[in-house]
Amino acid sequence: MRAPPSGPGPQTAGVTIMRSRRRQTTVSIQVTERGIVVRAPLHTPESQIRAILTARRAWLDKTWQAVQQRRSIRSQPWFERPLFLRGQRLAVRYRCQPDARRWTVTAAGGVVWVAGPAPDARDEAAYRAVVRWLRRQARADLEARVAHWSARTGLVPSSIRVRDQRTRWGSCSTQGNLNFNWRLVMAPPAAADYVVVHELCHLREMNHSPRFWRLVESVLPDYRLQRKWLAEHGPQLRLF
Ligand SMILES: [Zn+2]
Repeated sequence: MRAPPSGPGPQTAGVTIMRSRRRQTTVSIQVTERGIVVRAPLHTPESQIRAILTARRAWLDKTWQAVQQRRSIRSQPWFERPLFLRGQRLAVRYRCQPDARRWTVTAAGGVVWVAGPAPDARDEAAYRAVVRWLRRQARADLEARVAHWSARTGLVPSSIRVRDQRTRWGSCSTQGNLNFNWRLVMAPPAAADYVVVHELCHLREMNHSPRFWRLVESVLPDYRLQRKWLAEHGPQLRLF
């Protein structure tokens, strides 16, 4: 059901309440680009749901604003979105090369030059070329960082993969394979180091126990700062 926009929750966001006969045992709230979705057990009174929404009003307002901001950035052409390399914001400049067969990407002095055969950089192929270029940088950086921290800790992964993960910065499989999000190349090197060390430590401690965090801290005493940086700024890096 769709509640009037003046109900609890952000003024501009509609609230959809979904009832579930099975599985759902608690009330959960999700903020999406289209509005707020509440999932509730079949017999939860509506007044109780309204009370939960009212109690979480500040969080809902903040999250709704962030979601709207993300949507507005995503609707911009790719070259107007924030692009970072190793923590530095880069400007994107385009050069038309009518005779070129493919797109080339080079970086110099804080500017990424994208050159290609199309009349402007709106071309989707230009975006793909920039992402390919960033992924190459990410692979080189992450291989070097893993080698560096493996030598210092004695923790050596079976393999490293650089992937397109929207929700995670890294992961470690039970076989000892490490996966990293290529967007880490946009973060400052210290934050990327934290993710590398975090995943390497999982090779010894496959959990987030106090023992795991002590191990991380023994390698990177300031890891909390980097974790905080990623929590605060990470969503912005995912916009490109
Ligand atoms: Zn972990």
